[in-house]
Amino acid sequence: MPELPEIMNLAAQMQHTLTGKIVQEIEVNQAKCLNLPVNAFRAVLLGQRFQGTTARGKWLVTSLPSGWLLISLGMGGDLLYHANATTLPEKRQVAFSFRDGSCLSLSLWWFGYVHYARELAEHGMVAKLGPNALDMSLDDFRALLQGKRGAVKTLLMDQSHIAGIGNVYIQDPLFKARIHPLRPANSLGEEEIAALWQAIRETLQESVALGGFAYEKNLYGEKGRWDTSYFQIAYREGKACPRCGAVVTKIKTGSTSGFICPTCQPLQPGE
Ligand SMILES: [Zn+2]
Repeated sequence: MPELPEIMNLAAQMQHTLTGKIVQEIEVNQAKCLNLPVNAFRAVLLGQRFQGTTARGKWLVTSLPSGWLLISLGMGGDLLYHANATTLPEKRQVAFSFRDGSCLSLSLWWFGYVHYARELAEHGMVAKLGPNALDMSLDDFRALLQGKRGAVKTLLMDQSHIAGIGNVYIQDPLFKARIHPLRPANSLGEEEIAALWQAIRETLQESVALGGFAYEKNLYGEKGRWDTSYFQIAYREGKACPRCGAVVTKIKTGSTSGFICPTCQPLQPGE
């Protein structure tokens, strides 16, 4: 499932490759991906020029003269650029053709969204997103955690508070900052807050620099180079903690799983 690093890379590539292109045709093979009837969607998009794309959490947000095109890959999928229509994948939910003959195809593994909004504020799912995780200052981050009694991991994966972090990128920052995922957010001390903020930035930036996670493709069909060898404890159940050698354990963290070193990340610090 793509998270902020993969979406940031796709956004930068869309910005570079698609900006200025004019939509000539739209093929829709799965109408439920859209938030408008197919004919209405085509009517507002045809002839529109892509003016630039940014990442908003796990959404790709493209500016158009008449509004915004909003794409979410949901649980994952391939969003691919094609210099011409001959390389379009057989299985595709939606494909855009541009006036210069190039195309953008979307092949979802499970389900995703291709939406249009006249104003971003009118789009419920995007309007309620918190700031992108890499755009948060330490002061913003401290303010987010303070006063919240819920588990710190659940809070950081809540896209309405901080956008772009999911179950892949949350694991190692908590480990690096020595914080158990189920600790109440408001129990973290100042040093822990600063360490966690720094660790989130390091992990996300490392992946961005390597082109994202190795299970996801970029706009040109290339896989990311941030593979599991970069993981410290994430998905390393039963292996040795790289810091102390204790056995990495998988635990339930609400509706998701967490990977912790029980020695480095005690639920009750100081005991
Ligand atoms: Zn350890």
